[in-house]
Amino acid sequence: HWRGAPGTYTEQMEGPVDEAKVRLRFPPEPNGYLHIGHAKSICINFGLAKDYQGRCHMRFDDTNPVKEDQEYVDSILGSVNWLGFDWKDDKEINYYFASDYFDYMYEIAEHLIKIGCAYVDEQSADEIRENRGTLKSPGVNSPYRDRSPEENLRIFREMREGKHPEGSMVVRSKIDMASRNINLRDPAIYRIRFAEHHRTGNKWCIYPMYTFAHPLEDVLENITHSICTLEFEDQRAFYNWATERSVPITRAPLFEKAAAYIGELAGKDFEAQKPFMEAAVKFKWKLGQTADERKVFEILTAIKEDPAKLSAETAKTVLDAVSANPAVFTPLLQDVLSQTVKANYFLLPHQYEFNRLNLTYVVMSKRKLIALVKEGLVDGWDDPRMPTLVGLRRRGYSPEAIRLFCERIGVSKQTGAWIDHSVLEGALREVLDAQADRRIAVQDPIKLVIDNYPEDQTEEVETPNHPQHPERGSRSLMFSKELWIERSDFSENPPKGYRRLTLATAEKPAIPVRLRHAYVVEATSVEKDADGKVVTVHAKYYPETRSGSAGANNVKTKAAIHWLSCKEALPAEIRLYDRLFSVPKPDSGEEDFRTLINKDSKTVCKSYVEPSLKLAKPEDRFQFERNGYYVADQKDFSADNLVFNLAVALKDSFGK
Ligand code: ATP
Ligand code: MG
Ligand code: MG
Repeated sequence: HWRGAPGTYTEQMEGPVDEAKVRLRFPPEPNGYLHIGHAKSICINFGLAKDYQGRCHMRFDDTNPVKEDQEYVDSILGSVNWLGFDWKDDKEINYYFASDYFDYMYEIAEHLIKIGCAYVDEQSADEIRENRGTLKSPGVNSPYRDRSPEENLRIFREMREGKHPEGSMVVRSKIDMASRNINLRDPAIYRIRFAEHHRTGNKWCIYPMYTFAHPLEDVLENITHSICTLEFEDQRAFYNWATERSVPITRAPLFEKAAAYIGELAGKDFEAQKPFMEAAVKFKWKLGQTADERKVFEILTAIKEDPAKLSAETAKTVLDAVSANPAVFTPLLQDVLSQTVKANYFLLPHQYEFNRLNLTYVVMSKRKLIALVKEGLVDGWDDPRMPTLVGLRRRGYSPEAIRLFCERIGVSKQTGAWIDHSVLEGALREVLDAQADRRIAVQDPIKLVIDNYPEDQTEEVETPNHPQHPERGSRSLMFSKELWIERSDFSENPPKGYRRLTLATAEKPAIPVRLRHAYVVEATSVEKDADGKVVTVHAKYYPETRSGSAGANNVKTKAAIHWLSCKEALPAEIRLYDRLFSVPKPDSGEEDFRTLINKDSKTVCKSYVEPSLKLAKPEDRFQFERNGYYVADQKDFSADNLVFNLAVALKDSFGK
């Protein structure tokens, strides 16, 4: 009967029930790029599937025709894969589109109309909103609420045929306008939209509402655990209402069996009916709305209070009601059958909620992310400052680092908690500390000339690739008279406690400093450009102090700095990135987030790097010693155009 995704529904139906596996889903709307918040959801869903040898469906929740696009579909698949998760089953690439179920959703809506659980409402959107009531006051029934199923069905079909304009009417579920849960006050399930859909084209001009579509997608795919964020907690009652009432359609073969079973029972004697009735008594009634439901509910409650009331007669009333209108009694059927027939007959998904990720110094709402890109405030979706997964990837984040972060932040029901951005950076630092080879780069170079070092002399200096992992080998760097050093490793007006290169003054001698793996030097004079900026530092070196030699410690030093020989160093572009926003909660809404952008969040440096980096490949990650972790840019790096991005500094220095 079912004609949706391959191999799911039938598999459960035919296989032994106790083999039903944990089945989860990750259901993004293809209307934007995935961000770090989605990563949390991906890790939970795909992670649980892995832990329990179940499956996680990659599903595109594309029921809203207006904003969705193939570009987003492609990038979402790419990001989930990159994070290390796989949605393929043994046989084939197998991902799902909610829009594949439109026929089914339509059929379920018709079914709801037929059994009196839905109606066409012609009130305006404003009237519907007004009549919905408030937390303190009940809503007001729509004047269209009591139309006959036949009339509702006729108009609904006209809606599908495009005979009514957008906004003129909606289909609403018929639940309870006085419910304390406002989400149960007859929520809309279908609306008119004359919009082309990225997959179904112009086939439809009515589309299901998200809150209706989502539970049905889950039932149709045999999801067991539908995990979502806490904002949907109040929707759970409607989620259950929709899944339970869909059973006659979505579980038709099983439903028919169950209904037949009830029918058989009704014809049997009291003793045969008794187990069923006892199970029914235990049943906790969920939504007693219709007169029939209430009547049965009263009988069951009475029996529960006084078991003597369980008689052939009361049992028959219940059975008759159930078999006359099994659809309305789906929840009862489901519960009772699972207890009497001991089979998980209508295995329906259950919704579980968890707290969404709130991360400081980023915005995560799709609207704002789109604005950043469209208004040119960043360089595209994969700008290394973006919290998108493509942005984090380009920034230098590895999938391991993001998974470690998701593991660390944990999952709870606590709302309003904020994770500090430094937790994300810390996870990256931790992963890269172990993984990344060390390299030398001089980010903001000035020249150091060692006046007493022979003009044509060079020396090779062996440098380990990773100080804690000798097995990773080493490479040799060339040492010579002219070197590049960091501008910050020399100071004309040293602050108190400065330990690197200075000039001698009347009060203090110059500070001796070690050039790492090489010699001890002292600055002697400087050359400046027209603007008074230091361009060259002259120095003398102590020839007996070469690292590892007997005289290495003849001159005491308190600091060691890195350097590159001018002859061999290669020019490179290093892009220094900082957090995109200058305040922790740019999303809080008090000020326009655009005005809160950190203006110093991107700096491009003309730098020098060691020659071995010519062999790097895009996305290779390194520690540039004393500076931080860097990645060869995914798009712009090549052997002739060395471009590196700062992924994260060695120490947390934000705002200092
Ligand atoms: P929108 O921004 O349009 O409201 P959304 O944030 O719900 O969309 P979806 O594409 O629908 O984005 O999300 C897919 C899944 O990712 C959902 O199950 C959602 O719960 C989860 N998700 C989205 N944002 C976060 C977050 N910040 N933390 C944890 N999970 C999230
Ligand atoms: Mg959503
Ligand atoms: Mg969102």
